[in-house]
Amino acid sequence: MPDDRQPGFGVYVHWPFCAAKCPYCDFNSHVRHQKIDEERFAAAFARELATMRARTGPREVTSIFLGGGTPSLMKPDTVGAVLETIAANWTVPDGIEVTLEANPSSVEASRFRGYRAAGINRVSLGVQALNNADLRFLGRLHDVDQALGAIRLARETFPRLSFDLIYARPNQTLDAWEKELDAAIGHAADHLSLYQLTIEEGTRFHALHAAGKFSVPDPDHAADLYRLTQEVTAARGLPAYEISNHARPGAESRHNLVYWRYGEYVGVGPGAHGRFIEDGKRIVTFTEKMPETWANLVEARGHGVIGGETLTRSEEADEFLLMGLRLTEGIDLARYEQLSGRPLSSRRIQTLQEENLVAPVGNSRLRATSTGMIVLDAVVADLAR
Ligand code: SF4
Repeated sequence: MPDDRQPGFGVYVHWPFCAAKCPYCDFNSHVRHQKIDEERFAAAFARELATMRARTGPREVTSIFLGGGTPSLMKPDTVGAVLETIAANWTVPDGIEVTLEANPSSVEASRFRGYRAAGINRVSLGVQALNNADLRFLGRLHDVDQALGAIRLARETFPRLSFDLIYARPNQTLDAWEKELDAAIGHAADHLSLYQLTIEEGTRFHALHAAGKFSVPDPDHAADLYRLTQEVTAARGLPAYEISNHARPGAESRHNLVYWRYGEYVGVGPGAHGRFIEDGKRIVTFTEKMPETWANLVEARGHGVIGGETLTRSEEADEFLLMGLRLTEGIDLARYEQLSGRPLSSRRIQTLQEENLVAPVGNSRLRATSTGMIVLDAVVADLAR
């Protein structure tokens, strides 16, 4: 049984800058044509981390994640300074997972060695596709050769590697995706994040899609691509452990498991979210998104938090359900009951079970089936009613 009663305490740091804005991206990422003042941002991270430490009290950190944006645009010294500040505020045991997101276009051997020396032990590479036409369509700055070079270098430098691919692209056939996925697994990452292309409001793709410039696979074809993804990864030893994430057993992302197992985390940097227990209650924090405004706020008052709330028991239970059912291990029914103060409705579980959308795991857990994963939002909404 998974140890999700103690899901951990993670620290997330958001680096908000990218070399270019990808047309599908709705993350908090910004392009600047002037040089970024990294020392200023490192100092602001340090102040905001200290403020968070004052709120969380002493804790043992179970994972650190530097995400973005493109954190691999940061100098290794800046990364080192951030990691040192985290260790100065909380207990950071040796050997915990410390991940940095990197883009193949910003990879250099000396930079990677510097990150490794600073304490990064896992890299998550934004590969996104292994064919040049689709990389251009996705607006990526790298080509396949650069992606493969970055994968090689990452494998030589870091003990652990994950890379991301986006599928369900326009006109993508099952056959083409199977070959690409097969090639990706052959590059021997221990972890793959495989996301379906979604058209998010406010992105360039949203406008182009609305104008009929391209179309994405219809829901049936997208579901077939999803099923194929599950089959191929399972057959090649990287089964799904979450709706979009696949790993060799033991190589799951500890940090993302903190989110999905409904653990605690602080989030610092522009647009970062946090969820942790303060005075016995789970609180949510989110920070100002615009990088320079965030830095001004931190300099003026020690943090860039502009909002948040204390979750009620039922909100906590809903979030737990939403996150936990993404995992193939499912959720611990007793923990749901402990959070919400009432058990899930056995009548609803039974109906969903008859529709093959959920399944019991032993007599203490519940998971979504692979059919249920495809319509997970509806399953969660039904259970949470
Ligand atoms: S590199 Fe990543 S964060 Fe930056 S714009 Fe592209 S998808 Fe968004």
